[in-house]
Amino acid sequence: MALKTADQYEDSLRKMNLKVYLLGEPVKNPVDHPIIRPSMNSVKMTYALAQDPQHEDLMTAKSHLTGEKINRFCHLHQSTDDLIKKVKMQRLLGQKTASCFQRCVGMDAINAVDSVTFEMDQKLGTKYHERFIKFLKMMQEQDLTVDGAMTDPKGDRGLPPSKQADPDLYTRVVEKRKDGIVVCGAKAHQTGAINSHWILVMPTIAMSKEDADYALSFAAPADAEGISYIYGRQSCDTRKLEGGEIDVGNRQFGGHEALMIFDNLFVPWENVFMCGEYEFSGALVERFAGYHRQSYGGCKVGVGDVLIGAAALAAEYNGAAKASHIKDKLIEMIHLNETLFSCGIACSAQGHKTASGTYLIDLLLANVCKQNITRFPYEIARLAEDIAGGLMVTMASEKDLRHPEIGKIVKKYFKGIATVPTEHRCRVLRLIENITLGTAAVGYRTESMHGAGSPQAQRIMISRQGNLEYKKKLAKEIAGIKD
Ligand code: SF4
Ligand code: FE
Repeated sequence: MALKTADQYEDSLRKMNLKVYLLGEPVKNPVDHPIIRPSMNSVKMTYALAQDPQHEDLMTAKSHLTGEKINRFCHLHQSTDDLIKKVKMQRLLGQKTASCFQRCVGMDAINAVDSVTFEMDQKLGTKYHERFIKFLKMMQEQDLTVDGAMTDPKGDRGLPPSKQADPDLYTRVVEKRKDGIVVCGAKAHQTGAINSHWILVMPTIAMSKEDADYALSFAAPADAEGISYIYGRQSCDTRKLEGGEIDVGNRQFGGHEALMIFDNLFVPWENVFMCGEYEFSGALVERFAGYHRQSYGGCKVGVGDVLIGAAALAAEYNGAAKASHIKDKLIEMIHLNETLFSCGIACSAQGHKTASGTYLIDLLLANVCKQNITRFPYEIARLAEDIAGGLMVTMASEKDLRHPEIGKIVKKYFKGIATVPTEHRCRVLRLIENITLGTAAVGYRTESMHGAGSPQAQRIMISRQGNLEYKKKLAKEIAGIKD
């Protein structure tokens, strides 16, 4: 079976036995937990849309390994066309879920691990790439969701991994055995971890020789003995426990992050893809981050589409749609959103083939894309709040709206234009609140800042890739300067 249905995906999660803590309690059944379930629904959408003939071209691809039709999230990009389709697929899913659908981290991880293990084997004579391809085949055949796990907790940012007061603040090998390795440490902010079948771990920074134990990449089942999770809470998350559908803003979908802990996790050698080859850890980080910076030029744009639509509806319901400044603000939002999309498409169109055959994005343009992502969604969110008005954060609750007595008052005084029910206005304002300040703001705002690397990380890459010397040479030629 190369394509799972959405229900098969959900059933496959039910068979897993993840050790998850949420709000101080162990969670027996994450799939049906009201706080977690919307995030599962978002991943489920990556399976559902792959079954829809209308979206087949974006959502599926032909495996270069088996020739079978597979979900694009399990695919290694074989052309710039694949890279472009990836971004379009992410925009589509952002539009359908208005949240983080999580599965991209695994897709970005397999593409990065593929080319780096290939080059590592070529240079060092190691055997990592064929092990990785075996893992990839299984992922494709079973249509798995894989959590690409990169970010370590990092403790004191001024110290390298091996100099930390607590050596577990970076994920490391604590024992090498004949049959495999033993791993301790953790990965922070793990997107979609609880909705994943497997995890694919990568090092978090370029390592030096002293930190060779931290230059580590491996795969493990998400419910392996020795892995546990502490679910990250989100702004307004407990509204999901109230049972309503308006105050949550987005009843059906969401995203999640979790702290993933490795307590003497055993990994057989067949699932180890880097172990001590510190010279290659930088390339793996750079490529994964590059792919994920490209990804944001798709997913955040899709969520932006929903937010722009919601702002336009709010303006309509407020009776302000015809005001010229409102029209202009909506134009500005569209302009910013499409600029982000242009960056996602540009770094894809300018991609190139790596030695393994897998296509890599243009790293400079992918970093420019993400740098814009650290800014424009904030401006789009600011404009959405401007258009929505203050009621978005001062409105009475759904329980008040539905109350047999005060409900009438809520409906009377929160009414906008006469032709639209008050409830519609409440719903759209709550949606804007959700994306800009609520559970989805994790993905649309703070993740836009720090996900796939904080702004400074992109600036370092932009300075490295920007080729300033060449630009100086151009200026000298034009200015007639001869050294
Ligand atoms: Fe995918 Fe975007 Fe979520 Fe990253 S933030 S996993 S790119 S949806
Ligand atoms: Fe992310």
